[in-house]
Amino acid sequence: MYDFHLHSNFSMDSKTSMDAMVLSAIANNLRSICFTDHIDLESTEKKIDFLFRTDDYFKEIKRVKYKHLGKIEILGGVEIGMQPHLKEKYELLLEQNPFDFVIMSIHSIAKKSIAIDNIFQEMPIEQIYKIYFNEMYEAVKLFDNYDVLGHMDYIDRYILNPLDIPNYDRYYEIISEILKIIIKKGKGIEVNTAGMRRGLDYFNPKPSILELYKDLGGEILTIGSDAHSAEHIGYNYRLAEKLIKDLGFKYIYIFKERKKFPIKI
Ligand SMILES: [Zn+2]
Ligand SMILES: [Zn+2]
Repeated sequence: MYDFHLHSNFSMDSKTSMDAMVLSAIANNLRSICFTDHIDLESTEKKIDFLFRTDDYFKEIKRVKYKHLGKIEILGGVEIGMQPHLKEKYELLLEQNPFDFVIMSIHSIAKKSIAIDNIFQEMPIEQIYKIYFNEMYEAVKLFDNYDVLGHMDYIDRYILNPLDIPNYDRYYEIISEILKIIIKKGKGIEVNTAGMRRGLDYFNPKPSILELYKDLGGEILTIGSDAHSAEHIGYNYRLAEKLIKDLGFKYIYIFKERKKFPIKI
């Protein structure tokens, strides 16, 4: 098993040490894990940066890597919260830091955090979704320094009543355009299993989006639990792998030093 989306206490929303995460990963027989702690610049309406000191991060990754050498492979990635106006800032950050793997996620729209600010009280859900996918489209057009687009329909997790989630068909055109750009630029998308422990009955993105990705010629997929605590490492990995296989994909991918490696499933 391979978990390529994990948070430790280098992220503002996790209290779990890297050591505790690694011990759980070993106990759950994971072969390879990649920490992808959050760097979310200007994340909220108040422009709060959620970040960590990358020197300390790489030092800690190196320490746990050697401590558990031979038992598990440990890699150091990052999950960046992209907003189109932050392109240059992220370019600089990634130029200066040798991450193994970069997930680009959309956590904020219209300069407000989806999880923290009150966007759902300010606009109708359909409009929020429109802005969400428009900004995602801008991000994949503008920015190339990432490996996979994270949890594509993550916004679904924040709709209180799942029945209010707008039908995927309404956004079919823009989702297709986003996926076409990703494929053309040689990037991938991730299957994020956290959707199922966050009130949804699917992973993010939902199977219809994965199907569309496949139909458009997409091949690069990673699997990540988005665990913020030790018990969620590798969460529903086998189910995700089965879903991917059933959809006709032959490989999942892992990344090291920003290079991709296929794993037959
Ligand atoms: Zn995320
Ligand atoms: Zn995450």
